[in-house]
Order: sequence, then structure tokens, then C-alpha cells
Amino acid sequence: MVVIEDDPGFFRMRPKGKAMSDPKTLKDAYSLILEAIDVGIYKPGDRLVESELAERFGVSRTPIREALQRLETQSLLSRDGRSLIVASLDHNQLAELYVVRSALEGLAARLAARHATEEEVRLLRIMVQEDRALVEKPQALSRANKRFHKQIHLASHNRYLVQQLDLVHRSMALLATTSLSFAGRGRQTIEEHDAIVEAIAAGDGDAAARALKDHISRAFETRLRQDSMSPERQSI
Ligand SMILES: [Zn+2]
Repeated sequence: MVVIEDDPGFFRMRPKGKAMSDPKTLKDAYSLILEAIDVGIYKPGDRLVESELAERFGVSRTPIREALQRLETQSLLSRDGRSLIVASLDHNQLAELYVVRSALEGLAARLAARHATEEEVRLLRIMVQEDRALVEKPQALSRANKRFHKQIHLASHNRYLVQQLDLVHRSMALLATTSLSFAGRGRQTIEEHDAIVEAIAAGDGDAAARALKDHISRAFETRLRQDSMSPERQSI
């Protein structure tokens, strides 16, 4: 089994230019389960059974067991009696997560304004344009949104920050709904992404950080509204 390093890994640098995790070559039981949680195949509260996972992913039970232990250690799974279930974030954890996300994403935008290459800025602009076609498709837009934010993280050219943001986004896999399914939020999101990219393109770190923090704040506000309107709502 190939193990993907998931700790901050400050002392285990990868060679320059090598992808941080290549899904095709490094996909192990851990990342398969994590991805299944991230795309909503398993939702908070769902029970994870070793034998079923082994069958679904065509992996033997030992790596599945190890992956489950690791996910439990990382608080992505919790115990319900003898069963392991996908953890859910309570209101306080959600608020705490957004505070950290806002600060780190703001920093990424600030650094991207300083360090992004012309090609990276062009790619960000293309992403914003292409994502306009997805405003009425919340699930597709949610995936595109993750790619967009990841691209900003990379454009910060700070690998320690990228690692910290990966940790934050791993916890965000525990959110069963996407705030992008809220009426009007898709269109608003694209306009906010556009403002972030233009601030980065202008090399204005303050404006880029502000635009990204505003964006995260609006996303959080939308999530709170969603939760207040229908607490039991699942991804649609
Ligand atoms: Zn976004």
C-alpha cells in the first residue's frame, strides 16, 4: 500500500515540481474513503463497515481497517457504540472551521497577488468564465469551486500554507450540504471569484485578501441560513 502523507509534513518535502498527491498513482484505501465522504457517497451519521468498503473499493480488509483507524484519529469518523460513523460538525466546530479557513484563504490570496505567474492568473480567469455555465448546477459548481480555491492555494507558492489549507478542506468534507445549492448563491459566488481574481491580477494583496475573506464570510452566512431553514436537509 502506498501511503499519502497527510500530516503537515514539514520535514518531508517532495521534490520540486512533483504533484503533491497524484490521485492515479497514490490512491489508497484512505484516500478512496475520504473522497467518498467528500463527494457525499457517505454522509455524516452514515455507518462505515469494513467488509462493505473492502468490496466497494476492491481493496483487502487490512488497508481498509488501517484507513478507518487513521480517519478516526483525525476525527473524520466517530464511534457510535461499536460502529464507526462519519462524523458531523456541530455549530461551534463549523464556526471554528470557518474562522481558520477565512484567515488561511485570505493569506493565500494575499500571497497569490504577489507570486502568481501570468499563466496562473490566466488559468484562474478561465476557471471563472467556465464556471459561469454551472450556476444552476450546485453539485458541479461545488466541485469547480474546490478546484478554483485549490488553484489559488497553489498560486500562493507557499507549500506550508497549501498543506494547512488541505487539512481545512479535509474537515470540510464533513459538510453534507453545499451552500452553493442556496437560491442565487451560485451566481453570487462567480462574481465573488471574479473580484478575487482581478485583485490577484492587479497584484493588490490587500484587496485580494479582503475579497477572499468576504467570499468565505458570505458562504458561511449562507450555510447558517440554510441550516436555520432546514436542519435535516441533505445535499441536493
Ligand atoms: Zn469559492
